[in-house]
Amino acid sequence: MILLWRDAWFKPLADFDIGLDRCSYCKKTFHRIDFVISCGFCDNGIMHDSCANKHILSEHNKQRETKINSNKDRPQQLSYFF
Ligand SMILES: [Zn+2]
Ligand SMILES: [Zn+2]
Repeated sequence: MILLWRDAWFKPLADFDIGLDRCSYCKKTFHRIDFVISCGFCDNGIMHDSCANKHILSEHNKQRETKINSNKDRPQQLSYFF
């Protein structure tokens, strides 16, 4: 299983680094290659890239706005939150 960290670059993660094999949002097992990310706002664990978007939009909408404002100087990171 290869999970790719969505970041400025794609960092391959070995599954023993993660300690879990399913998405903490949709509870589906990760595929052989998946794009994953951990929530920057809470300790929910590793989620699919698309699940993290839904999770952040539903759970952390206010914090997301705050973070966007605090990241104004680094526009390349804003795409994480849209
Ligand atoms: Zn998921
Ligand atoms: Zn969260």
